[in-house]
Amino acid sequence: MMIAIDGPAASGKGTLARRIAVHFKLAHLDTGSLYRAVARDIRRHGGSLEDAAEAAEMARQLDPDTLSDPSLRDPGVGEAASVVAKFPEVRHALREFQRDFAQQKSGAVLDGRDIGTIVLPDAHVKIFVIADLDVRARRRYNELMVRGEPVTFEGVLAAIKGRDDRDMNRSTSPMKPAADAHLLDTTKLDIEAAFDAAVDLIARKIGQQGCP
Ligand code: C5P
Repeated sequence: MMIAIDGPAASGKGTLARRIAVHFKLAHLDTGSLYRAVARDIRRHGGSLEDAAEAAEMARQLDPDTLSDPSLRDPGVGEAASVVAKFPEVRHALREFQRDFAQQKSGAVLDGRDIGTIVLPDAHVKIFVIADLDVRARRRYNELMVRGEPVTFEGVLAAIKGRDDRDMNRSTSPMKPAADAHLLDTTKLDIEAAFDAAVDLIARKIGQQGCP
């Protein structure tokens, strides 16, 4: 079984994907970590995020063992990731890794921006998670405050808005729901309620399709 979970920053899709993976015993890939790692590696080499050729080279050389590096969650890395994510060569270099990952025997859940549209257009279940911008900014702000990061709510709001704009308006693989995706609005849902809604949806889909 392959499940695609897409949506904008701080919509709750990552937490949802992790919990769905545990519940249905599926492997999980946070595909945002790939783009974040490319941005991290460019910076470590002293390169420019706007250099498409260098970004593509870093994407080709990416070491999957470095994807759980905690620095990928530092403030600013998501924004840097969205800059390199606009390059078609970067997306191309990362695509096969994501598709291979999804072929595991156990089945897999991948979360990102273009999983249902481009990476796994044949996924058995596609969920596109949305939430109001203010609510998403508040969630991310609270997360960063708990980590002791020196951020302001206005700064976090502007960063998420900038990222939404870049992710929705790039010409290659823009973030958008697949035509057959189920929209899940988490604006008024806590994680438990969002998880229950997603499990219901997946269980119904599996029942209808009889998928593995
Ligand atoms: O999901 P996360 O916030 O970690 O993603 C960081 C950035 O990576 C996104 O803002 C987006 O630009 C890019 N991304 C993407 N396609 C994906 C996953 C992430 O373009 N499938």
